[in-house]
Amino acid sequence: MAHTLYKAPTVEELAADNAALRARMAYMLEQAECNHAIMMRHQAFDLEIVGAASFPDLVGTIFRALPVISELQSVTLSLVDEDADIRTVMERLGVDFAAFPDLLFVRGIGELGFDLGTRTAQSAAPKPLLGMFDPAGHTRQFPQGPATPVARLQSVAIVPLLRNRRIIGSLNLGSADPTRFTPSLGTDFVEHMASIIAICLENVISNEMLKYIGLTDSLTGVYNRRYIDRRLLEEIGRARRQDYDISFMYIDIDHFKRVNDTLGHQGGDEVLREVAHRIKGELRLSDALARFGGEEFVVLLIDADLDSAAFVAERIRIAISASMIALARGLQVSITASVGVASLAGASDGAPEAAAQELIAHADEALYQAKAGGRDRVVRYSAH
Ligand code: GH3
Ligand code: MG
Ligand code: MG
Repeated sequence: MAHTLYKAPTVEELAADNAALRARMAYMLEQAECNHAIMMRHQAFDLEIVGAASFPDLVGTIFRALPVISELQSVTLSLVDEDADIRTVMERLGVDFAAFPDLLFVRGIGELGFDLGTRTAQSAAPKPLLGMFDPAGHTRQFPQGPATPVARLQSVAIVPLLRNRRIIGSLNLGSADPTRFTPSLGTDFVEHMASIIAICLENVISNEMLKYIGLTDSLTGVYNRRYIDRRLLEEIGRARRQDYDISFMYIDIDHFKRVNDTLGHQGGDEVLREVAHRIKGELRLSDALARFGGEEFVVLLIDADLDSAAFVAERIRIAISASMIALARGLQVSITASVGVASLAGASDGAPEAAAQELIAHADEALYQAKAGGRDRVVRYSAH
């Protein structure tokens, strides 16, 4: 029987073993440090997105920071927005979507690309899809554009964004490394990242929705008094810095009580909606329309002196009275409105709050004169 007899290693062999072990130790230490650094970067990222104050702040941070810390060539987000509510509200709050080419909206969860057929009650959540990048199949998650050169992508991860088992979208990660995302890879890490992003997204979206609800009139969809009060102060400051005039318009429907009396409150509501729509049609994007209450609307015009504001007011007066308003149940009604207009010079001084109150009061006084003068007319405020 052959025995493998222990043979003492030579000094050279021991030294070689030792060097190999040291090298291996150094490598592992380096790996550990590298992993630690990645973990720290991700923790810093988590903190940053949790602290995002608004929707643009959040998505901006994700698109800016995530490709860097995760060493990815492309990061996009698909958000489920069935009735385009999110998009509409964000636009009305002034979000510039052109600044976020990697923010994509889909009309339903079916468009996200997950396998939803195998979902059961126990495992309602679809798993992330990891694998080779398919230029034909992944155009929805990685649309070709100057900002997203998809030609360089080799492997991708499409990770569901889940809130209470509801799929709100997907986080789409693209790498130029073909081995970065493979079907056999563990998904814990990307799922964790997606869950934090999902929480943050839902949080900022509901905050923005609340903000929107707090600043708009639910009957007509135009702004409310709170919005105008705040906006007016901002605009007075800006008008003074840049030295231009702003104008304010008070629009009050004539004999609206009669409309309510003959058509009922619901008919009156329909008229209010249509009047808001007609006023809006005469305004520039920079002008702000609000319902101040009842059948009174106001318009804040930026960089408009009394002459140009009166010109717009006249157009609005005509738009309101020019044609009958068609109501449900086949009814039609003809109405008129009176308008008071006032201006504030860019060179004005004093407290902005006082200037705002005065501007509103002047427009109100001009409106009163329009009513007294026979209604269906525009009156400009003039100090007597
Ligand atoms: P005037 O030409 O002097 O402005 O007459 P008016 O009848 O329009 O003025 P008044 O301010 O006396 O009446 C406004 C009416 O608007 C009273 C109220 O019934 C009605 N109104 C206020 N808010 C609403 C609303 O949200 N919906 C409806 N349908 N009616 C409203
Ligand atoms: Mg009225
Ligand atoms: Mg009134």
